[in-house]
Amino acid sequence: MPRIVIDVERCKGCGLCTQVCPKGDLVQMSDEFNSKGYRPSKFVDPEKKCIGCAFCANMCPDVAITVYR
Ligand code: SF4
Ligand code: SF4
Repeated sequence: MPRIVIDVERCKGCGLCTQVCPKGDLVQMSDEFNSKGYRPSKFVDPEKKCIGCAFCANMCPDVAITVYR
């Protein structure tokens, strides 16, 4: 089952990854802060809709997203 893992300490909360998922809102902004004071993104996929396309990972300027297929 495809999934992504977001390295919250690398994430600067730019939100770019939340705008490209073809499955909708699988990548959302977290309500919590990382140690640098940024609000990172989070992966929310209770219905297992991720297809592992890596659009989110490719969009990330900080290489904070790893895709597992
Ligand atoms: S890998 Fe593709 S389907 Fe999965 S969360 Fe990222 S953009 Fe969405
Ligand atoms: S694109 Fe990268 S740095 Fe920006 S919010 Fe997403 S994971 Fe964080």
